[in-house]
Amino acid sequence: MRPERDPLGQPLPDAVGPQRLVVLGSSGSIGTQTLDVAAWQGHEVVGLVGGRRADELVAQAHRWRPAAVSCAAEVADAVRPRLPAGTRLLVGEAGAAEVAAMEADVVVAAIPGFRGLAPTRAALRAGRHVALANKEAMVCAGALVWAEAQAHGARLTPVDSEHAGLYQTLLGEPLEGVAALVLTASGGPFRTGPANLAAVTPEQALAHPTWRMGPKVTIDSATLFNKGLEVLEAAFLFRMPLERIEVVVHPQSLVHALVRFHDGSVKAQLGPHDMRLPIQYALHAPERPPVPLAPLPLEGTWTFERPDTGRFPALAAAYAAGHKGGDAPLRLNAADEVAVEAFLTGRLRFTGIADVLADALAHATARTPGWDDLDALDAEARALAGEAVRRAGARGPA
Ligand code: MG
Repeated sequence: MRPERDPLGQPLPDAVGPQRLVVLGSSGSIGTQTLDVAAWQGHEVVGLVGGRRADELVAQAHRWRPAAVSCAAEVADAVRPRLPAGTRLLVGEAGAAEVAAMEADVVVAAIPGFRGLAPTRAALRAGRHVALANKEAMVCAGALVWAEAQAHGARLTPVDSEHAGLYQTLLGEPLEGVAALVLTASGGPFRTGPANLAAVTPEQALAHPTWRMGPKVTIDSATLFNKGLEVLEAAFLFRMPLERIEVVVHPQSLVHALVRFHDGSVKAQLGPHDMRLPIQYALHAPERPPVPLAPLPLEGTWTFERPDTGRFPALAAAYAAGHKGGDAPLRLNAADEVAVEAFLTGRLRFTGIADVLADALAHATARTPGWDDLDALDAEARALAGEAVRRAGARGPA
């Protein structure tokens, strides 16, 4: 029998058929894979928010014939004349927010980073079911996001594979029986070497062993900061204290999450490392329509090990930010966005990322920001992180 409520306390839908989708971040990794799922399951796409990839957005508009698309102002002239008849073009942040609030069944919030928060909020305020891939929304404004969802009758389902795994594992379980949530981490490309991480290049860090993802999240996987963000995301999403959220390194990336229960039992969610599966589940939960993919092979060696927070201090920094509370998670996220960009453009060593995070934690305060404070705090944290990057750069090469 289907439970009445999901693990986030929200009512479950009676039946889920083909839906009208809005995809925020349609030309990114999650966005393009969402459109694969839309093709599998016969969903309609009514709105697309792209960024600066004009050719990709135009091709998506011709394939899906949405009522509206939105793009960055600097590519609007390249997009406008090439759109199909009947597709309206909106521009910039206001355009993204307008598409996010369009009449639709599900909004897939897949614009990465802090800048994904505003259009995610617009979808929540319109009362939509939001399939949340923008983990930074939960990290930077978890309580605000929940309050907005409840005020407007919006529903949230997680797209992040670990959180989708937890959601599936918890479904139908009384939450008072839950002892701990366990997120798996691949360990990234530097799990076993090299010994000196100060000298690794962006090319090495971008070569993720299992998952196919955008550059920011791939670097975050190499530092384990992505897992740190996911710990904070899980704490806010499932309203679980940090003491009850664990991380285990599982290089094969086939077990996505586990739940420890008070009776000593552990339940896990497994699946191929293909983001289209958690995306589809976020759209269809609790239903499981078939997919055109090979079944998960069970042969082979699956290993689990403790994360090395000495080698990967960014994970510990995220826990520290969660324990500090207040504006610490938002500041840490902003600092990481600045630090990763600096690393990718050759201005910061790989190990300098953790130094910039430590600097952000030192500036954190106990004051929990409201919606009106978020942009100014994010800007301040970015400016401080920029200074920390310059100081680290001034110290010279490793
Ligand atoms: Mg993940």
